[in-house]
Amino acid sequence: MTLHIPFDNSYATLPETFYARVNPEPVKAPSLIAINEELARDLGIDGLDDPDLAALFAGNAIPEGATPLAQLYAGHQFGQYNPQLGDGRAVLLGETIGTDGLRRDIQLKGSGRTPFSRMGDGRAWLGPVLREYVVSEAMHALGVPSTRALAAVRTGEVVVRERPLPGAVLTRVAQSHLRVGTFQVFAARGDTKALQTLFDYAAARHYPDADDPASFLTAVMRRQAALVAQWLSLGFIHGVMNTDNCSISGETIDYGPCAFMDSYHPETVYSSIDRFGRYSYAAQADIIVWNMAQLATALLSLMPDPEASVEPFTALIHTMPEMIRAEWLKRFGAKIGLADPKAEDAKLIADLLNLMEASETDFTNTFRGLVDGTARDQFADPTGFDQWSDLWRARLHDEDDPHSRMSAANPVLIPRNHRIEAMIDAAVAGDDRPFTRLMSAYAKPYDSHPEFADLRNPPAPDEVVQATFCGT
Ligand code: AMP
Ligand code: MG
Repeated sequence: MTLHIPFDNSYATLPETFYARVNPEPVKAPSLIAINEELARDLGIDGLDDPDLAALFAGNAIPEGATPLAQLYAGHQFGQYNPQLGDGRAVLLGETIGTDGLRRDIQLKGSGRTPFSRMGDGRAWLGPVLREYVVSEAMHALGVPSTRALAAVRTGEVVVRERPLPGAVLTRVAQSHLRVGTFQVFAARGDTKALQTLFDYAAARHYPDADDPASFLTAVMRRQAALVAQWLSLGFIHGVMNTDNCSISGETIDYGPCAFMDSYHPETVYSSIDRFGRYSYAAQADIIVWNMAQLATALLSLMPDPEASVEPFTALIHTMPEMIRAEWLKRFGAKIGLADPKAEDAKLIADLLNLMEASETDFTNTFRGLVDGTARDQFADPTGFDQWSDLWRARLHDEDDPHSRMSAANPVLIPRNHRIEAMIDAAVAGDDRPFTRLMSAYAKPYDSHPEFADLRNPPAPDEVVQATFCGT
C-alpha cells in the first residue's frame, strides 16, 4: 500500500454516544472511476500511484490511521422530526489537516450497512454518486462552499432500486459532517452534557471566535445566509433542505435531488419527493431561516435559563431574513454589474427577474448575456427588456468596470440537469467519457470555451428532465 493519508482524527475521540464504530462492508469487484488528484494533494495525501486505490476507496481495505465510524444525528425531514437518522450508508474514515491548515472529514458514502441503516441497504447506485461528484465539484469551481468529491468507484455489485443498477461508492470530503440534526439529537434526548461537548467541539472546529450559543448561532446564520444567497444567484435548487442536510460549517451538503434551473421560475421544484414545493427555488430563503430556528431551539438547552433565552434567540432568528436580503442584493447586484448595490437597486434586479419569469428565459444564459451582449436574444418579445436595459445602462454609468464584475458573477456553464442525466445513462452503459468531459468543462465555469459551447444550451423540449430522485 503506497497511499498515505495523514489522518488526524478528532471526532473519534468524542464520547461513544456520538457514533457507532463500524467498518465499511467490502464489495465484490471495485474499479476506480475517478480520483481528484488536486484535492488529494490539498488534503496532504500522497501515494496516488497505489495499485489498490479502487479497493481503498471502496472500503475493501482500511487505510492506516483511519478510525471508521458512522455518525449519529437526527433531523426534521419535510418538517417532521425524525428522532434518529445517522449515517445509514456512510462511514467517516477520519480527518486530515490540509495544506491550508483546515481540518476536513474523509467519508465513504455508499459503503454498506451501519447500525443507523434502518431498512436501507447501506448502498448507493452509480447515478447519485456521479451526480454528487460532478455537481459538488462544479459548485466548488463556481465559488460556492461545498463538500468535495475525492474519489468514485464502481463496486461491481448490483443495487436494487426501481430496477437493478450498478453500485458505487463516493469519497466525500467536508469541513465536517456536523449538521443541525447533530445538535437536535442530543437536545431532543435531553442529553445536555453531550450537547455541551458537541457545542465545544463544533465551535472550536468552525467558529473559534464564538464563545457562547448566541454568537455561535449568529455565526452559523451568517454563513448559511451567504450560502443560500449564492445558491439563488446561480439558480441552484438543493431539493432536500432537511435539517440533517444543513451543515454547521455552512457548506452545501447532500446532492440527492438537487438541480440547476434552466428557464427562470421562482417556484421551480425538481425533486420527485417534494410534492408541495417546500424546497422550491425561492422557498430556500425561508427554509434556511426555519432550519436555523431548529438549531436555535436545540442550543437553548445550553443556556443557564432556557426559558428566558427564548426571546433573545427568537429575536436573533428574526434578523436572518435581512441578512439574506443583504447577501442576495450583493450577489444579484454583481450579476448586473454593481459594485455596491443600494436598497433601491433591488427593484432593478426584480424587474429583470420578472421579465425573465414572464418570458421563461434561461436563467444562466440571460445573466451571462448581459456580459456577452446576447441577453436581449433570450426574449421572444424584447420590448420589456429594452426598456429595462435603458434604465440599467443609466444605472451602470458611473460603475467602474462592470463588465469584469459581471463576468465573475455570471457563469457560462452550470451543470445542467439534462447533461447530468445523459452522463449517468452513459456511465450505466459503461461509458465514462461524458463524465470526464463534464468534469473538464465545469472546472472553469466562468470561461467561454468553444469546445464546450454545446454545454451552454438549455435542454431541447425532449431533453427536459421533469424530476430528480434521491439516491436512496
Ligand atoms: P438523505 O436523504 O440522503 O439525506 O438520507 C437520509 C437518511 O437516510 C440518512 O440517515 C441516511 O443515512 C439514510 N439512508 C439513505 N439511503 C440509505 C440507504 N440506501 N441505506 C441506509 N440508509 C440510508
Ligand atoms: Mg443526508
